[in-house]
Amino acid sequence: MNAATFQYINDLADQVILEYDISIPIIDIDSIVQRIGGKVEEKDDMDILCDGTIKKDGVASFSIAVSPYLSSFGRTSTIAHELGHLFLHMGYQTDWECWKKQDESVYRRFGTSAQEDQASEFAAALLMPRDQFAEALEKFICGDRVDMTKVAQYLNVSPAAAVNRGRVLGYL
Ligand SMILES: [Zn+2]
Repeated sequence: MNAATFQYINDLADQVILEYDISIPIIDIDSIVQRIGGKVEEKDDMDILCDGTIKKDGVASFSIAVSPYLSSFGRTSTIAHELGHLFLHMGYQTDWECWKKQDESVYRRFGTSAQEDQASEFAAALLMPRDQFAEALEKFICGDRVDMTKVAQYLNVSPAAAVNRGRVLGYL
């Protein structure tokens, strides 16, 4: 992903946080989905390689389907990833023409790896916004290192996700 795309996605996540008055850390992502205009459904017949899908289900509403077999962290990050597709690739609140063209009858599984990477970057930016991530690092400095387990606990993400975010943002 190039620097401009990275910047765009992180700025967009910050705008979504502001627009929908989302507090970080995100503890209850289902209520945030509702606030944005959607709902989450659990579907136990998901493709084995696919944790979540999304579809438009009304003029200004959408639904996200997730596997019921996900861990709590997995569930939250899957939903955040689908929100990335919503804003970045379906045009919800960002590109009216693109949103109008979305098919209401099918759940979308996004194919290209570029779109997958973008949705995952959005998820990281939503769950661990740059400013709050930097604050969390400072909060959990322990001697000359940062306790990433505590950073992850504080931000309600998996330790692997927190470490990855730290690397992507150039802190680790
Ligand atoms: Zn995806």
